[in-house]
Amino acid sequence: MNFRMNRRRRVYEGKAKVLFEGPEPGTLVQYFKDDATAFNNQKKGTITGKGVLNNRISEYLMTKLGEIGVPTHFMKRLNMREQLIRRVEIIPIEIVVRNIVAGSLAKRLGIPEGTVLPRSIVEFYYKKDELGDPMVSDEHITAFGWANPHEIDEMMSLSLRINDYMSGLFLGIGLKLVDFKLEFGRLWDNDELHIILADEISPDNCRLWDVKTNEKMDKDRFRHDLGKVEEAYQEVARRLGILMPESVITSEGQPE
Ligand code: UDP
Repeated sequence: MNFRMNRRRRVYEGKAKVLFEGPEPGTLVQYFKDDATAFNNQKKGTITGKGVLNNRISEYLMTKLGEIGVPTHFMKRLNMREQLIRRVEIIPIEIVVRNIVAGSLAKRLGIPEGTVLPRSIVEFYYKKDELGDPMVSDEHITAFGWANPHEIDEMMSLSLRINDYMSGLFLGIGLKLVDFKLEFGRLWDNDELHIILADEISPDNCRLWDVKTNEKMDKDRFRHDLGKVEEAYQEVARRLGILMPESVITSEGQPE
């Protein structure tokens, strides 16, 4: 057994990431894996180099969002696969913002994929793998105490600002931001409670289509076996100007 296994305490292991205790109280180290899952864990696989790319892409987007005043958990990137983040209490709600119909919305309501929505739509899902993350309304969220009305308002307004900013950013590099998923956390600063953006923003949780060809440049390539999965993640990083040519090919380093 590798003696370094116990060097850091594993706080949480999810499908695509591992969280370790950070160097200071109130911090965590977020490690990005190459593992990919879809359809509520029924499909499993590996996207070589995904962790390295998502670490970079999420760093880039969270830094930019920080610059426009969106509070995020991101502190700094530590190495190829790890970033230092603020430890927050995750609110068990996934916020999905949609600009164009795709995925579960197309299926559930029978609206053709690609239909441009008359306005951006925000949806809430209860974060519960065993139940397949069911869609919920603000009534469920407040009745069951997952978040209070003020927190819901804050998450909604931050999500819409993030959508406005990211839609423009991606359009500038020839990509349509079709939809994406966000997670938020609670952070206490003295006696004040702040709602801050957590998790990651990457092609794992965004749908991105090429403006000219409508080619999918995100996890849908993995979900639906469209091929060129690695290439799509690399292309998003390349267009953002953050691709490191040699580092993305290998799947070096498992979490210690
Ligand atoms: N999404 C995610 N995690 C989830 C569910 C959805 O990151 O557990 C993202 C997904 O990548 C897409 C958006 O949220 O960008 C909307 O997903 P949708 O509800 O259409 O579900 P899906 O088609 O992914 O099942």
